[in-house]
Amino acid sequence: MTQAVIVAQALTTVAFVALGAAIAYRWYRDRSRTQAMLAGALITLALVSVLGRFQDQANPNVALSLISLVAFMVSGFFVLLFRNELIPLSRNALGAAYVLLAAAIVVGIVDVVGFQRTAPASATMLGLALITPWAIFTGEPIVRFWLASNRLPTVQRARLRFLSFGFGLLIVILFVAVIGGSSLQNPTVALLIALAALLVVPAIYVSFAPPALLRRIWRLAEENEVRAALQDLLIFSATRQVMAERAVYWAVRMMGATAGFVMDADGRVLATSGIDPERAAALAARPLESMYSAPLHLTEGQGAMAVLTGPYTPVFGSEEVSQLKGYANAVAAGLERARVTERMAAIENNKTQFLNLASHELRGPVTVIRGYVSMLESGMLGQLNERGLKAASVMAAKVSEMNELIEEMIEAARLEEGGVTLRAVASDLREIVRSAIEVVSPLLDSRHRLEVDMPERRVRVNIDRDRTRTIVANLLSNAIKYSPEGGTITCQVRARAGLAKVSIADEGIGIPRDGMATLFTRFGRIITPETEHLKGTGLGLFLARQLARLQGGDITVASVEGEGSTFTLQLPLAAAESHAAKDGSGDGAVESKQPRPRGAGARAGNA
Ligand code: ADP
Repeated sequence: MTQAVIVAQALTTVAFVALGAAIAYRWYRDRSRTQAMLAGALITLALVSVLGRFQDQANPNVALSLISLVAFMVSGFFVLLFRNELIPLSRNALGAAYVLLAAAIVVGIVDVVGFQRTAPASATMLGLALITPWAIFTGEPIVRFWLASNRLPTVQRARLRFLSFGFGLLIVILFVAVIGGSSLQNPTVALLIALAALLVVPAIYVSFAPPALLRRIWRLAEENEVRAALQDLLIFSATRQVMAERAVYWAVRMMGATAGFVMDADGRVLATSGIDPERAAALAARPLESMYSAPLHLTEGQGAMAVLTGPYTPVFGSEEVSQLKGYANAVAAGLERARVTERMAAIENNKTQFLNLASHELRGPVTVIRGYVSMLESGMLGQLNERGLKAASVMAAKVSEMNELIEEMIEAARLEEGGVTLRAVASDLREIVRSAIEVVSPLLDSRHRLEVDMPERRVRVNIDRDRTRTIVANLLSNAIKYSPEGGTITCQVRARAGLAKVSIADEGIGIPRDGMATLFTRFGRIITPETEHLKGTGLGLFLARQLARLQGGDITVASVEGEGSTFTLQLPLAAAESHAAKDGSGDGAVESKQPRPRGAGARAGNA
């Protein structure tokens, strides 16, 4: 057993020396004051351990004892100075610590020189008088670090806690050694103490140089959190700024860094975390190689995401850096998406402003022109000759076109602002479809054949009549407009399974597959060689779908390019109708062809 104690004690000394060498090397590479203080503490501690090996317990050498004593006190004081680097002490506290250090050294010297062979009781008292200042120097930082660690990212937290644990264990060992007295002669106790001292070494080592595997384990929980946050971050950040701010916050947490910033492609600092923007801007102006950074590949050029080491996290390993690179790639993709979203939002906003402004500014003058044109036509302003009358009628038609356009724009702006009020009334959808056909009938020419197919009985719906007529008229006029070669246009009304449907099919130019997404957007037009000469605003379908949706319905489309399109408006059937239709017994469920309606029928017949 004694042999084991000797081996364990020897091992402890070797371990402390190795620890001293490791921190000395770190300090050599890093040269920061913080590292210097920790190096001072651990090297002096190693010195104490080595000197202890050479000391003859029965007949201690005074010089060795004196050096040991001073080294021991200084090691504790270095821990306090290390703390002072991380969390500065007040001047008074630091002054008091210096006085305590001097007093402890004096007491120690008096003890070593004057009371070599004192009685065991007073030896214990003296021992306590010596280790108490050491325990104060190291104990206060331990508590501070532990408390501070709660607010830190996992890697930093774990490091500080290991450091606190290592020095805490040393304090306990010292008190046990001093108070234990003769029981320490027991080989088992001595072995336990030596083993405990041995445990201090890895604890302190991982606090300043944790191996990659350990860092990965510490980060695991946080990484999962980051992954979940990343998803939110990439999808839901409304602007680049917000996205960059969140991204850098998580980068700092994930890396266990103290601060970080995101630099845009133009070199501007986009977001910071843990550092003020001015300092970040100064750092961003430096070569990025001097920081831990990862490039952000953006369309405008290369930006960067940099994280800064601090006293808690002196150096990042290659593993952290490659992790940062992977993260930065995801963030770059997110920033690009946010840029597109921002641009689109700005464009949409401009469109709304334009719609509002243009429609309201135009409405007044057009109303005045309309009034005068109608007065001209009616002869109220004097009788016009034939050419004058012709001109007045062309003007009236054009002004009415303009008016329709303005009404569309106003309606679109209203929809955008949520200002549309619907007047839902119980109606027969067939009536509305008929009146829509009347509206568009002037557009039909001899190349078009309109087939109308409606149930014999009423299709009861609770809807805004005017707006629904606008929707159907819009679909019909599109069917005519986008069938420049003519062909059959079928307008079919059905009531089935609680829904009323109006399908308008044409044999026109059809819609290219990649144009489908544009169809129902505001100002969305599909410009192809077949359509570029056709007039239009791209507001019609947008309005139609929005108005349908506001009434609990929708518009869907099926189309084959070059063959034709079918647009279907669906609306909820009125409650009673809906039940009957489900039973198959209602009016609407009876699907039979209706004789061609007035006006449209005549034209269809012509075709
Ligand atoms: P506008 O007709 O004023 O351009 P719309 O919103 O009514 O605007 O239609 C948007 C686009 O959808 C049109 O520009 C056209 O390219 C396409 N489109 C609409 N209806 C049809 C149709 N029946 N056949 C082919 N393309 C159509």
